[in-house]
Amino acid sequence: MTAELCLKKLEYVGVLAFATVDKYGDPQIRNISAIYYEPDAMYFFTAKGKSFCEELLSDGRVQVLGYTKYKEMIRLSSKAVPVEPENQQKYIDLIFKKYPYLYNLYPDDTRLMAGIVFKIADARIEYFNLGVNPIFRESYSIGKGNVVFRGYVITDNCRKCGACADKCPQRCIERGSPYKIEQSHCLHCGICRDICPFGAVEIR
Ligand code: SF4
Ligand code: SF4
Repeated sequence: MTAELCLKKLEYVGVLAFATVDKYGDPQIRNISAIYYEPDAMYFFTAKGKSFCEELLSDGRVQVLGYTKYKEMIRLSSKAVPVEPENQQKYIDLIFKKYPYLYNLYPDDTRLMAGIVFKIADARIEYFNLGVNPIFRESYSIGKGNVVFRGYVITDNCRKCGACADKCPQRCIERGSPYKIEQSHCLHCGICRDICPFGAVEIR
């Protein structure tokens, strides 16, 4: 899996969920399909009058979520920025050409009057495949996006009792000194932390 392939899979999913934060600090989520993809970026269309646009312009933080029929979850965390004014028409036209139904919504030049295109180019991507055995997860980035480690780790407090490895539903804890979690197969279920008699498992 790669970041580019993750974007391709999102393109095949088609309709994605976009989560933002509104001016009251509350989460908001919308489905967006008017998206144009490049190998390392995505561009999406909305109307300037929508709260969604206001949230993107004032805060910009966005999470984009897609789920494939093969049980793959792909999530982008990023800041969306408006495309430069001189390139707005280019990307509006590319998106309308890809999705002709949009001409019904915004006929003639109303697409240019009402529309605005945002770009996501710097993002952290989390890929999580529940359709394979063992499950598989990995993180990637595009542009200046950071890969941030999230998950459980076994510390040097491990006494090698083996309780966590016996109960791990994905059998992804390797015996050793200390025991070690194979991160790419971990569900983040927390059983190992809850079961360890020595408090040796921490979430990071
Ligand atoms: S349950 Fe705790 S002490 Fe036992 S092997 Fe796992 S991490 Fe180590
Ligand atoms: S969090 Fe769950 S899946 Fe991951 S290592 Fe611990 S028990 Fe296994």
